[in-house]
Amino acid sequence: MPIYSHSQLSTYEQCPLRYRLSYRDRIKRDTEGIEAFLGSRVHETLKKAYDDARLTKVNALPELLSYYETVWEQNWRDGVVVTRKDVTLQHYKALGKKMIETYHARYAPFSSDTTIDTEMRVVFSLDGEGKYQLQGFIDRLSRTGDGVYHIHDYKTSAHLPGQSDADSDRQLALYHIGVKKRWPDVQQVRLVWHYLAFDRELVSVRSDDALDELATGARKLIDDIEAAADFPPRESSLCQWCEYPDLCPNRKHLYMVESLPVNQYLKEPGVLLVNRYAELKDKAKDIETETDLVREAIVDYAKREYVTAIRGSGRQVRIKFDKKLKFPGKNEEGREHLVNTVIGAGKWMDVSQLDTTALAHAVEDGLWDKKLIAEVMKHGRTEESSTVWLSRPKGEE
Ligand code: SF4
Repeated sequence: MPIYSHSQLSTYEQCPLRYRLSYRDRIKRDTEGIEAFLGSRVHETLKKAYDDARLTKVNALPELLSYYETVWEQNWRDGVVVTRKDVTLQHYKALGKKMIETYHARYAPFSSDTTIDTEMRVVFSLDGEGKYQLQGFIDRLSRTGDGVYHIHDYKTSAHLPGQSDADSDRQLALYHIGVKKRWPDVQQVRLVWHYLAFDRELVSVRSDDALDELATGARKLIDDIEAAADFPPRESSLCQWCEYPDLCPNRKHLYMVESLPVNQYLKEPGVLLVNRYAELKDKAKDIETETDLVREAIVDYAKREYVTAIRGSGRQVRIKFDKKLKFPGKNEEGREHLVNTVIGAGKWMDVSQLDTTALAHAVEDGLWDKKLIAEVMKHGRTEESSTVWLSRPKGEE
């Protein structure tokens, strides 16, 4: 089994297709979001601050900022992509600078604890046999005078999560397991996230039971990944940072046509088909609305004139007035009593039928035990179907 990383696990959870392209097919891309680029440069700068401090050299703020400028320029390449249209590259660069300034103001001379390592690689197993191996990089590992270890993680995102998010975060808790495996005498570990854009620390402490539970969940996820045969795309807000829009069935067409000039765009066969489909659907909707109104008018007319047949030009309509017996539907009041009455009278099989949609759901989602699913599947078959639905792309409503 390969060595997994937290980012592999979360990529699979977020989008199995992106996981497959990145980690199984190993398709490399030269593009990188500006957010990731900025994050890397800030991380490098803070690493320098602590690495130098370990050698007793305390960097003044101008030195750190100058280092930040240097690594920014050295690493800059055309493949760095700014997705947001309203924010420029200079805004991002200035944001990184501000993060370093506020961090320096708060933590210089970087001596409140002992840095054990920066960008420290940890490789550890999630079980006793070494079957489930995980690796990661700890931004900074330190120890305070009271013997407590601190796993630090720098966050450059523009979103500040809540305490409950920190308490349920998996990445640093996995590193906690790694630190404990490396130094079994470690007693206390604090997980510390530095949200640099907010000058805010979030701290979480995990119990041994919580770590066991986390390891069990991670092992189960690794088993799912190892057994996966299907890697469907899963759209989310994270798609805007995905490096594979040209290989994703959800984004490929948009990716292909967005660079076309308007005259070619409007002639592209897919664009033509969707435009025609939308036009017809709009017409069908208008016709349906008008049909309902005319139908209601016919019923009113029939009631008013006391007729059950109305003649047109070569056509006629007949109207039948009926009274139908109704019973409470699912989730309506009285339903439970009604069901119990029918079951109690032994008449359930006379009036019920198998819900095959719910059955397919139970099988597909593995909600029943394997033996029962295998038995049920003797009668199941897979049929290809398609659904076409029309919507407005997000942001173009
Ligand atoms: S664009 Fe979105 S859905 Fe498609 S592969 Fe990337 S993350 Fe998955």
